[in-house]
Amino acid sequence: MTEQDHDHRDEPQGDAPPAADFAALGLHDALLEAIEGLGFESPTPVQAAAIPPLIAGEDVVGLARTGSGKTAAFSLPLLQRITRDGKVRALIMAPTRELAQQVTAAMRSFEPTVRSWAIYGGSAYGPQLKALKRGVSVIVGTPGRLLDLLDKGALDLSGLEVLVLDEGDHMLQLGFLEDVEQIIAAAPDARQMALFSATMPPDIRRLAERWIPDAVQISVGGGGPKTDHIDQRWMRVPHAHKLEALLRVLEGQPGVPTIVFARTRKGCAEVADALIGRGVSADALHGDLNQPARERVLGRLRSGAIQVLVATDVAARGLDVDRLELVVNLDLPDSIDDYVHRIGRTGRAGREGVAISFVTPRQRGFLHAVRKRFGVELTQIPVPSDADVVRQQRGALEARLEEVRDDASLDEDAADAVARLVDSGDWTAEQVAAAAIHLLAEEAGVSLGALPDDEPPAWSVERHRGRDPRERRGPPDRQPSRAGPRGDKPGRPPRGLRGDHSGPVRDEVALFLAAGRRHGVGKGDLVGALANECGIPGERIGRITVLDGRSFVVLQRGDLDKILRERKTLELRGRHAKLDVAR
Ligand code: AMP
Repeated sequence: MTEQDHDHRDEPQGDAPPAADFAALGLHDALLEAIEGLGFESPTPVQAAAIPPLIAGEDVVGLARTGSGKTAAFSLPLLQRITRDGKVRALIMAPTRELAQQVTAAMRSFEPTVRSWAIYGGSAYGPQLKALKRGVSVIVGTPGRLLDLLDKGALDLSGLEVLVLDEGDHMLQLGFLEDVEQIIAAAPDARQMALFSATMPPDIRRLAERWIPDAVQISVGGGGPKTDHIDQRWMRVPHAHKLEALLRVLEGQPGVPTIVFARTRKGCAEVADALIGRGVSADALHGDLNQPARERVLGRLRSGAIQVLVATDVAARGLDVDRLELVVNLDLPDSIDDYVHRIGRTGRAGREGVAISFVTPRQRGFLHAVRKRFGVELTQIPVPSDADVVRQQRGALEARLEEVRDDASLDEDAADAVARLVDSGDWTAEQVAAAAIHLLAEEAGVSLGALPDDEPPAWSVERHRGRDPRERRGPPDRQPSRAGPRGDKPGRPPRGLRGDHSGPVRDEVALFLAAGRRHGVGKGDLVGALANECGIPGERIGRITVLDGRSFVVLQRGDLDKILRERKTLELRGRHAKLDVAR
């Protein structure tokens, strides 16, 4: 782990006293009305500290994280100060397209009568050139495309009054600093300039000293992103079992919008493929995607069409999706800075978020580094057992029911429908409820029957505090209740993605069988039938999930193809269960 530049971040930083209201900061009435309309009641610390000097025309260097309200801190003063004559008067440099779009949207929401435009690479030049020709007062852009347009003579900065560098440390990480300095050099000397950055690496500090040596220095609310609304946990996961652990986490959180961080582009694609193979809706976001493809993926995440985004650090820079509730660090980041940025993808817009880091036994140093940075221990959680997964799924189902119950607008029609059935004399209210819950559970793939084994996978069993299964779940030599012909021995890893034969993740897929607990089918029946009827050796049979009306068995792709070529059904407890690839 490279822990560059920590000296500056670890400096204690005092919070500025919060200003009581925006009016006291010197903002004009029109802007005050706009921010009131947006529901901003009082300035955040960075706004209280940065707005007055910026209105006074001073340069500012602000140590401020995403989520601190820094966008309004630099946008409001410049909107108030710039000349409105169709010339480019303000330029905000942002590291990513997403951030450029967000800042532009914020500018427009604060002041719709000032023309603000986002300019970024990977998209057509036409509309950007047209907008520049028509006249734009505020440009928010990424450095590469801005330089292109400067070189082409399409962007004229001669009248620039305000220059802002947003997320300076991200610019540095993405290798944009040279471009940024060229753009600064192209602006008039008399411009006002502000620089915001979540951390202050030496290169960014040097840039600030070179271009704005007399800037007012602001550091509020801590150097890094605020993380106390993010529940940070870690799980001990041996490298070979990461995918199985991820599946267990995701299966227990059906529909929870999640971002999974992997180290490489290839890893992202493989993990996304593997998740899809197990019926989890996922897609990969990595640097190989062109802008339209990237937009499509993000659009699918925002709309809820996919639950899980698998991304690299670079691809996820500046990503702002309000919905993300869970961040999983499948591979640990290279630096604590990256860690902070990753977990900051959740808990947006004031919501609570959860971040789970998979830590292999050799990566314990990471926990120490996080403790040093935050002064707190991450909470260790065990890899969920099959029973944990089902419990969590039931919890999610109950939460959905509760939401509907509490939504006053929904209850009348549904209550009428219940009343009609009960009035017919054929139903009791309990029967209606039970049938409805049954359907809902089936649709969500949640088992309502007896809980499966409460054993966590043996590979995950360490001395978890209060969670050693041998303490909690009976004597060490107890046979797993549904061991059947699997013949699992205590201490031996249950079948699943075992490191010794898991193979490349993309070569495993799940078989769907239309038979489950309700038909008397157990794991042993499935292993027996697959071994005896289909000739699949026991050691190639992966994780088995038996739900109420259906089951899933993880198999090697070749084995699954062979089975489906040879048969459409499999006899289980006297029933011909339909077979298919799990989606
Ligand atoms: P930012 O750090 O600029 O990305 O802002 C984070 C979020 O906080 C955005 O959704 C803003 O709309 C919101 N926000 C900014 N300032 C305030 C404020 N004073 N009161 C309430 N919300 C704010």
